[in-house]
Amino acid sequence: MSAPHFERVALVGIGLINSSLARVLRREKIADEIVACARTQETLDTAVKLGLCDRAMLDPAVAVAGADLVVLGTPLSAYAGIAQAIAGALKPGAIVTDVGSVKQAVIRDIKPHMPAGVHFVAGHPVAGTEHSGPASGFAELFHDRWCILTPLADTDPGALARVSALWQAAGMKVLTMDAEHHDLVLAITSHLPHLIAYTIVGTATDLEDTLKSEVIKFSAGGFRDFTRIAASDPVMWRDVFLNNREAVLEMLQRFSEDLTALQRAIRWGEGQKLEDLFTRTRAIRRSIIEAKQA
Ligand code: NAP
Repeated sequence: MSAPHFERVALVGIGLINSSLARVLRREKIADEIVACARTQETLDTAVKLGLCDRAMLDPAVAVAGADLVVLGTPLSAYAGIAQAIAGALKPGAIVTDVGSVKQAVIRDIKPHMPAGVHFVAGHPVAGTEHSGPASGFAELFHDRWCILTPLADTDPGALARVSALWQAAGMKVLTMDAEHHDLVLAITSHLPHLIAYTIVGTATDLEDTLKSEVIKFSAGGFRDFTRIAASDPVMWRDVFLNNREAVLEMLQRFSEDLTALQRAIRWGEGQKLEDLFTRTRAIRRSIIEAKQA
């Protein structure tokens, strides 16, 4: 599929994800003009300095005026307010999409504000790092990763195809999925791992001082890998858990049951049970590597 073309793209939020997208828009010459919006002037100044946009502004309604593509890339808690603020300024025929890590809550927060004639396509490029802000982005972030779009029954097929082509131009493999299913899948593949990392690093932080210094010293034993995930943006992740409550709680319940079973196996010296599980999990890692998602 050939890369789509937009006259004006408005990026509302210019952090890790949208700044990476801006770099793709530049590289692939997808947009004649890029307008960036952020909450603080400091972030906008950085975006301008990095050449990520042609114009930068704090007011999202001014930023989206005249844009034929609007991409929301702020923490989820800002979505409803932004959707309300931009609604009256959107150009008829404009496409509004987003990059949020949860989809049902995003549809709930954005769709009711979208005027007739504006096409909303909810999306999630499943790619990221633990870093934030416009300076941390890079165009290759999306390469060979999956992008999940969660269209509704009334989503405009033309708009869906253009958003799909956009992420393909970024190097992504695109698929569509029901928003509820997306939230369940991401709860186990992304949200729960982050929760576990935050917990284990929190537990280590609460240890008495003598042990704590050794946690840092001997972190290469496994702890270090958790600290990378636990360094992810606090606001973004707070919003993910608050907005994907049901699915995360469901997966957490299953996880707790499995952890209790492991606890029991260790207590009763059931080595075979441990070995069986670790053998299965090693195979999962191999299949992720084979699928080029490692
Ligand atoms: P980020 O690097 O922290 O950047 C967030 C951006 O949103 C900043 O430019 C921030 O501006 C701006 N912002 C915050 N509140 C705003 C408001 N009320 N109005 C306008 N701009 C506002 O975030 P990110 O990691 O790119 O994540 C953005 C979205 O992508 C989130 O919804 C997240 O769920 C999703 N996502 C993240 C990842 C990941 O791994 N990070 C992966 C896939 C999807 P200031 O700097 O001025 O505050």
